[in-house]
Order: sequence, then structure tokens, then C-alpha cells
Amino acid sequence: MKKCLILLLLLSLVLAAASKPKVVLQVLGSGGPEMGDGRASSAYMIWVDGKARVLVDFGGGASLRFEQTKAKIADLDLVLLTHLHIDHTADLPALLKASYFTSRTRDLPIFGPYGNRAMPTTEVFIERLFKNDVGAWQYMGDFLDGSGAFRLVPTDIAFSKEIKRIYANRGISVDAVSVHHGPIPAVAYRVNVAGRHIVFSGDMNGAYHTLEHLAKGADVLVAHNAVPKGASGVASQLHMTPDTIGQIAGSAAPKSVILSHRMLRTIGKESETLAEIRKYYKGKVTFADDLDRYYVR
Ligand SMILES: [Zn+2]
Repeated sequence: MKKCLILLLLLSLVLAAASKPKVVLQVLGSGGPEMGDGRASSAYMIWVDGKARVLVDFGGGASLRFEQTKAKIADLDLVLLTHLHIDHTADLPALLKASYFTSRTRDLPIFGPYGNRAMPTTEVFIERLFKNDVGAWQYMGDFLDGSGAFRLVPTDIAFSKEIKRIYANRGISVDAVSVHHGPIPAVAYRVNVAGRHIVFSGDMNGAYHTLEHLAKGADVLVAHNAVPKGASGVASQLHMTPDTIGQIAGSAAPKSVILSHRMLRTIGKESETLAEIRKYYKGKVTFADDLDRYYVR
């Protein structure tokens, strides 16, 4: 009798695991803005049960990586932009143009930060790319005025040091909070799907102390490792040092940390970077490469 109960329990656990949606985080671009690192610029994708549902950033080279994964543009639910620097957005026009040749008919929401004197709002940014009469690629204006197969729907995320829910639909929700990337409006995101939580720092220096709250207990924290130990000046005003990444990871205690946005100044310094992070965080740390896939359990 006891054996039967144990077997039933094991069977139900196996069935529960089998019915749980499979969530995979894939790195499309693990590099920064440089050429010569052999990497696409910042871009990530979340797969749910074999469908590519969420894009986070889409920098130069991301469209080729997207193609290599065999993801379908028609499956995307939304695009999240951490900020509007070129290395996070440059392949968006390529994605939109490619969508013309697909079966996509659902609107595609694009979220990104508010604007300031240094940067347009995300809505204005998209208009300056594609809007009829004013866009650099105004011939794609169909995707904004509603006369195309679907609409691109940009939404600005207001500055906030408090975590805000910005999206919830079809089993995916997204929380956002402002992060400090020098003078550039920037947002960190937490994507929640099937009980899993994946957090993206984007580029930031840690000064607002918001990421540690957003990443609290997350399954994965993707942190940008753009500067080495001891960085100073402009680089440290824009980016987290390994020490800062370690402090944030130590405070938030995610199950794992993936280091991405790797640059020539940090590549080759992985053991030094890891030693800095290990001062505060004992969990799993991985250095990302393009097309890496992480099964989020
Ligand atoms: Zn960047």
C-alpha cells in the first residue's frame, strides 16, 4: 500500500513536470556596440513551449541570430527595449521589414523608456524610424497607421523607481523599473511566465538601487558585464562594475546570473570578474555567448 502511494506520488510529480510549460531564455546577442568581438549586440529571446514569445533589445546582428534560431516573427507577443542606444535597437527595422513576408496579423507592442534631452521617447523614436512623411524608412509607415497587415504599437514607460506592471496578456506579464545609465533613460525588465521570472538589467550603473528589488528571487538575472574591475570615469557612470553586479546578485539572490553585453575590455577577464562577484554571490554564474540557450526550470 505504502509502495503504491509512493509510486502514485512519483507519477503525479512526473506528470506535473511534463505539463509545465517549457521556458527557454536564448541569447541572440551577447556583445556590446563594438565590432571585432564576433558577437551580435544586445538581444535576447524567451521561448515558451517552442514558440518565440518575447524579445528584449534587438541590436546589430540580432536579425541574423533570430534567423539562425528558426524563430517565427508571427509568434512574438512583444518587444522590450531597455533603452534606445544603437547597440540595443539597430536591427529593429530589419525585423519589421522581414515581418512583411510572414503571416503575422497581430499587433506588435514595443515598450521602451520615456525621453529626455538626450533621447526621444520610445514612441517618437519609432515614429522617426517609420512614420509616414517623417520617418527615415517612411515607406514602412503602413505598420504605424493601421493600413498594414498589423500595427507596431510603441509605449513609453515613465520614469519610476518603483516596480510597475507594464504588460499582462496570454500568460506573460512584465514588470519594469528605471535604472541609471548615465544621461540615458533606461529600464530593467522582469518577464514572468509559467511561474518563472527572468530579469534583464540592460545597461546601468546601479546608482538607483532598483535592480536588486526587481531581481529578488528571480530564476535568472541577465546582467551586463560591459566594464572590468576598477573601471572609472564615463565607463563606470554608464555600467555596473563586477563588484556592483556581485552586490546586486548577493542582495537579490536570483537562482542564476548570466553575464552578457561582453566587450573587448571584459572578454579575457572572466576569472577576475567572477572573483569580484563571488565576494557577494555564491549561486550559478555563466558568461553568455550568442545563441546560448538556458532552460529556465
Ligand atoms: Zn549597450
